[in-house]
Amino acid sequence: MPQAPSQKALVPFVSVENMMRLVHRVGLETMLAELAAEIERDFARWELFDKTPRVGSHSHDGVIELMPTSDGEIYSFKYVNGHPKNMGKGLQTVTAFGLLADVATGYPLLLTEMTLLTALRTAATSAMAARHLAPKGATSMAIIGNGAQAEFQALAMKAVLGITTVRLFDIDQKATEKTRRNLEGSGLAVTACNSAQAAIEGVQIITTCTADKQSATILTDNMVGAGVHINAIGGDCPGKTELHPDILKRADTFVEYPPQTWVEGEIQQMPKDYPITELWRVVTGLAEGRRNEKQITLFDSVGFATEDFSALRYVRSRIAGTDFYQLLDIIADPDEPRDLFGMLQRSVN
Ligand code: NAD
Repeated sequence: MPQAPSQKALVPFVSVENMMRLVHRVGLETMLAELAAEIERDFARWELFDKTPRVGSHSHDGVIELMPTSDGEIYSFKYVNGHPKNMGKGLQTVTAFGLLADVATGYPLLLTEMTLLTALRTAATSAMAARHLAPKGATSMAIIGNGAQAEFQALAMKAVLGITTVRLFDIDQKATEKTRRNLEGSGLAVTACNSAQAAIEGVQIITTCTADKQSATILTDNMVGAGVHINAIGGDCPGKTELHPDILKRADTFVEYPPQTWVEGEIQQMPKDYPITELWRVVTGLAEGRRNEKQITLFDSVGFATEDFSALRYVRSRIAGTDFYQLLDIIADPDEPRDLFGMLQRSVN
């Protein structure tokens, strides 16, 4: 008769279903605002983190990446893919799961779905960055690329900055219609536009979140007026960018972790002496964010491991005392640590 594993080795697991329940329990906008605060707190203690560019395995159709980090007490990693052609097969472009572990013992503390959580943390990071970089009192934004990330991006800007107006464009009208429908009742005034140029007209924040496994030019220099904040999240792989380099020449560019962004971000198009500012330096007051109304600011977002760390720790604290998780038997628990062989005998028929 197989014996039950001991409680001390069981790992809390948050399924997609439980993540959805958690989001509804907390409230989507509250969760986005709380995640933005958690991510900002970790950016404020940036130097503590063990940092490395993510490890990518690139193929013709996409990339599979591992994103590890640690603050010395807790370790985390995320497994994430990016496959733009997946949509044509009825699959998502980006899927993910992640793990938190105790540095002192190496034992896992949490395993969770991270496809939804990545959309939430990416949107929360965008909003956190925009709070430092967008024009003061910004109320309007455009979203170019109305796929899986789009609604989360809009709602995080609403929750954190108070955005009231969203203008949408996608080369696929069905994507724009899906996003418009999903945002009905959100309190945002949403307009579907028939070009990127029309979408960005008069807005203070431009978010680009398109997916293509090649350099694309979603925005050209003549489209971008003085004073806007550009939140470029779609270009996040070698050879995959969204902005014409002339925009970067006029903009002040802010990045997460330079060794990763130089390889994956919009700045991969620029010479190595192109000036960039690390976002954590703005968060801690070591560097200036927006200086004036004319300045074009660009958050060249690629997604960094500390943002996943913050999101994972947030979820761990939020599921405490709830039934939004299951306990997984994924760590061996011999009665005597060296008797792994003896443990095997527990399941003899
Ligand atoms: P998705 O495939 O669900 O949506 C992408 C949308 O972009 C599609 O609707 C497509 O029609 C549209 N699109 C493609 N080319 C376009 C163009 N030229 N103009 C307008 N629209 C265009 O993908 P998603 O999950 O929303 O992700 C979008 C991008 O963001 C991906 O490249 C992904 O890798 C990236 N991403 C970045 C981060 C980050 O932290 N920076 C996090 C998550 C995703």
